Amino acid sequence: MNTLTRFAPSLTGYLHLGHVLHMIHVWGVARAQGGRVLSRIEDHDLARNRPEYEPAILADLQWLGFVPDLGISAENSPKPSNYRQSDCALHYEEALNFLVKKKKVYGCECSRKEILAKQSGGQGELCYSGTCAEKNLPLEGHTVRFRVPLGDIDFHDVALGDRRQTPATQCGDFSLRDRNGQWTYQFCCVCDDIRHGITLVVRGEDILDSTARQLQLFHALEYEPPHYYHHPLLTTDSGEKLSKRQRPESITQLREEGLLAEKIIGRAAFFGGLIPEPALLSAQAAGAMVKT
Ligand SMILES: [Zn+2]
Repeated sequence: MNTLTRFAPSLTGYLHLGHVLHMIHVWGVARAQGGRVLSRIEDHDLARNRPEYEPAILADLQWLGFVPDLGISAENSPKPSNYRQSDCALHYEEALNFLVKKKKVYGCECSRKEILAKQSGGQGELCYSGTCAEKNLPLEGHTVRFRVPLGDIDFHDVALGDRRQTPATQCGDFSLRDRNGQWTYQFCCVCDDIRHGITLVVRGEDILDSTARQLQLFHALEYEPPHYYHHPLLTTDSGEKLSKRQRPESITQLREEGLLAEKIIGRAAFFGGLIPEPALLSAQAAGAMVKT
């Protein structure tokens, strides 16, 4: 199989060390398999994303030496682009129409507050109980929800092994588009992976819980899903997740301070648990770690 994975930053801030660790995994796994990396911009959330971050992110990516084989890069970022979510609403509408024909979606009028009130425990993820499933509400002006099939989903994660998740009890019928017409991460991500022909999704363990529901979407859209590889996030010496406060500055800032790219890559590899600390002393060794 010809491996194709992707690097897909959102435009909610500058790249930071967590992104660099992610790049090491993405490019490392792709190159080790003789595969390619596609770069796309995940700016589906028009309220939170700022277009001005795009050139800064692409410039940092290029400066760090992680060069995508396909998609958007510092040297190739046309507007509109098939690799930028804010330019791709028609693709999402087309996929939604397919699900409408298959009767796999419905309109929901519940507010977040109402859903929370019905939720027992109130802990963890918002789980929708299906209040509007049979109301036959129009999709326009309402939240569009996906009818999540009941039952467990078993899948194999390349890094973590066999996993089982149950979207019906984790999140219930999740949203594909909100009442304002804003597409959601889950839906855009699956539509893009299909359109781009992604065969291996490499991403942080913080998104692990989304896997089974995305597999259900692939199934509903009648496409073969990719393989998944979830990697650990940045941690402190004692293995705890690095908090926002502990997290070093943006790559742009580190660059301005004169830190070399290989030093930054070495630092990310260390905080990501990929190399021991002494290796950090030698920028050469840290650089060599990622030249796969
Ligand atoms: Zn509802």
